Amino acid sequence: MSSIHRFRFDFEENLFLHLLQHRELQPYTETSLQSSDELHRRHLLGTAVQLTEDILPDLYRHYQSCLHQISPDLSGDLYIRQSSEYNAYVSAKSNDGFDILMTSAMVQDFDAKELAFVIGHELGHVLFEHHRIPSAYLLYQGADQISQALAEKLLQWSMTAEISADRIGYWVCGDFTKAATALFKTASGLSIDKEQAVIRALRNQYKKIEEVAKRQQHKILGTHPAIPIRFKSLEIISLDLLSSKNKGDYVSDKILKHLNDSVKNILAESEKMSDKGLEHEQSYRLTLLIFCLLYVATADNNKLNECDNRFVNKVLVSSAGWAEVGDAIEQCQQNASDFRQQCQQNFSKCSLTEQQVKGFLTQCVVMSEQCSGVTHARVEAMQSICQFFGFDKALLVQIPRA
Ligand SMILES: [Zn+2]
Repeated sequence: MSSIHRFRFDFEENLFLHLLQHRELQPYTETSLQSSDELHRRHLLGTAVQLTEDILPDLYRHYQSCLHQISPDLSGDLYIRQSSEYNAYVSAKSNDGFDILMTSAMVQDFDAKELAFVIGHELGHVLFEHHRIPSAYLLYQGADQISQALAEKLLQWSMTAEISADRIGYWVCGDFTKAATALFKTASGLSIDKEQAVIRALRNQYKKIEEVAKRQQHKILGTHPAIPIRFKSLEIISLDLLSSKNKGDYVSDKILKHLNDSVKNILAESEKMSDKGLEHEQSYRLTLLIFCLLYVATADNNKLNECDNRFVNKVLVSSAGWAEVGDAIEQCQQNASDFRQQCQQNFSKCSLTEQQVKGFLTQCVVMSEQCSGVTHARVEAMQSICQFFGFDKALLVQIPRA
């Protein structure tokens, strides 16, 4: 993985991968939205001006150099629209390429480094393929078509997507003060160049948000985190990000995780964003894994033998998540054929990624190898598991055997 990708906010990436697999979201992801690409471009060409080298050679070259910092193959157009607001957004297209739109006020009032932050931020959305989840469309226009639970996840994800994108903005800009003044200008609409005062103001305002948040229980307020929170989230990782970019220093996974956890704490405290969603996700997956193991363990003769039972318990105590499966194990011991039928029904309602199912199968194979062996009945049970989760039974061939 290129070093820039490693700086993606892990919490966002996990939510993103989870959402991509979400059954309720499937009808809305990429392919269905392809037809709107052309329409969108038509709209841009009609209401904004495409930046060319002739019109603004300096900005054009600056923009190209921002693209090159991310990747030499990156290409997308920049449009400018008349507006007194400071605003920018990107629309990535399903068949590669993207268009970035910036307002005229931004182009006039932001200096080169601030613009690099803004452009880099939009490129961050492109780099991480955020367009694959049409959250804005679903949260605003399609709100009545999705469940409350999905809407909440989409909101959480939109917020965290900004954090990931800011990191790329900062990577391209390379100057924390300029990233801060760009954020400040965007929030205030004021073109103030007192850099140290701006940083102090953002820090103070973050503290105040934290204090207010402590006293209040509110739900997530919007799709973007408040600017002082973005500032604080960026500040935490800024030194490591910059030394990685400029000196090629390797930031260890451990440090990255620590930094990401600190940002998660910030979001939890200030935006009341909890990773309960993910915790829930973890225990849900662990529960499913245990069910798969029991399903395979009882394939031979509808009985849970001692060795398999021990393996299941070992998985339970050694996993990071937590699962309430005592009743299920008991039921499996008492009437395995009933239990197996229930598994079947439950599995087909779940949405998992291929990678997750493979992970389950690997555990099933290891358990079988340690206990009664990978018998014909167990192989059939594992093939059925693939199919219950909506995958081809050939998936099992890809699981390594001892
Ligand atoms: Zn953004």
